[in-house]
Amino acid sequence: MDKTTRRYICINALCRAEVYTVITNDGYADKPTICPACHQSLYEGKADADKYMSRKHENAEEKTPLLTIKLENENSVPEVTYKGSEVKYKKNIQFDWDTSDAFDPAGLTYVIENYWSDGTLNKLERRKGFHR
Ligand SMILES: [Zn+2]
Repeated sequence: MDKTTRRYICINALCRAEVYTVITNDGYADKPTICPACHQSLYEGKADADKYMSRKHENAEEKTPLLTIKLENENSVPEVTYKGSEVKYKKNIQFDWDTSDAFDPAGLTYVIENYWSDGTLNKLERRKGFHR
């Protein structure tokens, strides 16, 4: 009996867990739908989840921003999206961008710390330019 594996990728840009299942000629043996790491949806297919998300936004005729931070007022919880995915269970959000002079950007740092629904702490930290 021929067996192939099928890959599922978590839709959450901060997680991107990959789940492989063995399928047979009879069909899917076991189709996972929920990410075991962060409990968000899994995307099935060869294309990676980033492409899936950007295609989804192309259809809506808008590009997916890398990072959005929206703060309604000073008492609000910021709404944060990273690569099109909403960041849930936020612990700490930092954004720091500066210039070296009036014309040139100097550096960029952003930090996203959040929990998965099982309580695991996740931290993404990116430093570009002079912030490295
Ligand atoms: Zn996940």
